[in-house]
Amino acid sequence: MNELVSLKSPISVNFEVTPVCDLACEFCFNAEMECKKLSHPPLKRVMSILDKLAEAEVFEVRLFGGEFFVYPYCGKCWNMLMSRISFYRSCQMVPI
Ligand code: SF4
Repeated sequence: MNELVSLKSPISVNFEVTPVCDLACEFCFNAEMECKKLSHPPLKRVMSILDKLAEAEVFEVRLFGGEFFVYPYCGKCWNMLMSRISFYRSCQMVPI
């Protein structure tokens, strides 16, 4: 018997923490955005989004950009996720 199950939140979220990137991959999907000239979002905004994802109990959150590691507060973001690990069943940083 096929039964549809409704979820209260998405299973997986790809969160572009910052659009900034200092790399130049040939396959870049953001190449036309000139990522080196963009600016980082404020930490307060990023933390607010992470908090909402935690509250929604999203199963998997992927942090990327741009390049996540050029975000000046990437460590704080990571530590926040780790402190909410009961909500974040899967936390990944996907280097490309
Ligand atoms: S790391 Fe991502 S955003 Fe940066 S150049 Fe490579 S593909 Fe583009």
